[in-house]
Amino acid sequence: MIQITMPLNFLGTVYREIRQALVDMGEMFGLLGQPREVADKPGAPDIDVQGGIVELKDVAFGYDAARPILKGVSIKAEAGKSVALVGPSGSGKSTIGRLLFRFYDVQAGALTIDGQDVRDVTQDSLHAVIGVVPQDTVLFNDTIRYNIAYGKAGASEDEIVEAAKAAQIHDFIQALPEGYDTAVGERGLKLSGGEKQRVGIARTLLKNPPILLLDEATSALDTETEASIQDALRLAGEGRTVITIAHRLSTIADADRIVVLEKGEVVEEGTHDALLAKSGRYAQLWHRQQAEDDAA
Ligand code: ADP
Ligand code: MG
Repeated sequence: MIQITMPLNFLGTVYREIRQALVDMGEMFGLLGQPREVADKPGAPDIDVQGGIVELKDVAFGYDAARPILKGVSIKAEAGKSVALVGPSGSGKSTIGRLLFRFYDVQAGALTIDGQDVRDVTQDSLHAVIGVVPQDTVLFNDTIRYNIAYGKAGASEDEIVEAAKAAQIHDFIQALPEGYDTAVGERGLKLSGGEKQRVGIARTLLKNPPILLLDEATSALDTETEASIQDALRLAGEGRTVITIAHRLSTIADADRIVVLEKGEVVEEGTHDALLAKSGRYAQLWHRQQAEDDAA
């Protein structure tokens, strides 16, 4: 009896964790219920990431042949630098995130990390080097410690606290009567959107990935929360290659490089200042958002 229940319990936990990981990514990419389209090559090695240079070379992709979504996109994210993808809804930003995870394969061109084509390495190792901070962090009905520690199997208390500090959620947790033992989630303490997101950031930091993929929240957080999340994300991005799928231009103005996508093509790229000086597509988007913010 015991011999049987133990492994079943264990399997239950593993299943729950795998499912949760898929939910996190699935929520981010709207992939729930979609079949995996790609398989590892036989004998594929694990990816070996040193700096974390992410490069799309002339990438073409469509979810179906009749409708191309990305039409020859080239983007280079330098090691340890930040790149923001901006552009109208439907321009292909999230699709690039999905290709980075190899949820789909490119139809032409290539996507490489430190020179290794993502098609040539194991998907497990690929997913391990990319940290995601989704718009909505899903919390388990468990302690806040568990919810952070989930980012790394066997994490020590010090590591957990370190991650919470970097995500700027440690002080909040410490002020709770039960601290890190506080139960959260549906059946525990309900956290605000900003608090949940910081737990998500702590979780990702514990994983310590060389590459970070950020999907910016579309739903407006209040300005103060927004600012503290931005601080936490900036800290989280230090020393990593950061790719941000941005909706609000104000939050990515300091990115090392901004890439403007439109209908699956790169129409402009550069720093915020350079792009504003160009008075092109980015400047137009920027001024429109400024006007909207002023009106709100
Ligand atoms: P963005 O993130 O810039 O808003 P997406 O990359 O999500 O844009 O989508 C680009 C285009 O691809 C959109 O026209 C969208 O409708 C389409 N698309 C996204 N996901 C799928 C899918 N799973 N199947 C078919 N079309 C999709
Ligand atoms: Mg999107």
